Amino acid sequence: MSWDARQRAMLAEMGYRLPAAMASTAVVEDEPEPIAVAAPPPAVMRVAVPPAPAVEPSAVPAHFAALDLPGLRDAVAACRGCGLCEQRRNAVFGGGALQQAQWLVVTDPPDDADDAAGDAFTGDAGRLLDRMLLAAGQRRSGRDDAELPTAFVTPIVKCRPPRGRAPQPAELAACEAVLARQVELLQPRLVLAMGLQAARRLTGLAEPLGRLRGRVHEWRGLPLVVTYHPAYLLRSPADKAGAWDDLCLARKTSNP
Ligand code: SF4
Repeated sequence: MSWDARQRAMLAEMGYRLPAAMASTAVVEDEPEPIAVAAPPPAVMRVAVPPAPAVEPSAVPAHFAALDLPGLRDAVAACRGCGLCEQRRNAVFGGGALQQAQWLVVTDPPDDADDAAGDAFTGDAGRLLDRMLLAAGQRRSGRDDAELPTAFVTPIVKCRPPRGRAPQPAELAACEAVLARQVELLQPRLVLAMGLQAARRLTGLAEPLGRLRGRVHEWRGLPLVVTYHPAYLLRSPADKAGAWDDLCLARKTSNP
């Protein structure tokens, strides 16, 4: 894999330092160390966790199944499919490619700022997310280099759980119908789960995030890669190198 000047600049903005031998201005042709696709660790304790049932296309509720993306966005804004509608200010549908997306980025539930704005990742975490995507050769629609493939970024549930609690299994299950329709419409090549709650829901595994990273899972027939949430990386910049490894794995998986 090569990194051009733009990607090196984006990596620098992420706070990730390339090894000195790779930091020259010439395009780097060296292949980085292959990212191990780790076998599932042995003796993993599996505890009760909301399963990640694949919502088959036929299971998408009829009132979502006929909607295009703008229509689905409107339906989500008015959705009362679970109790999370009671205290939301705004549903967060997500943003990015308007027709097809190469990556579907599924994040943890909306935070207070997302709930207020009705949009995901509008602050520092969003800026870091955009730099991460750019470094990996992706962009959110309408942002940055229009020639790059697009990613669509959406939370695992569209409405903020009260006081930032974790969403309950019934809430996750209800909102997965929206995610299922988003997948149908966007037809991504790969799903990138950012954050523990999104990762556990989509993998169906109640493991620490570190054990879910570094391998390719599957969700709804699509390859699924797990990485850190950008807000976590702002608090723990030492893990940006690990996030870059994850992005390389996602990039290699979606462009074999
Ligand atoms: S979380 Fe999802 S299912 Fe629940 S009300 Fe919001 S949009 Fe509807």
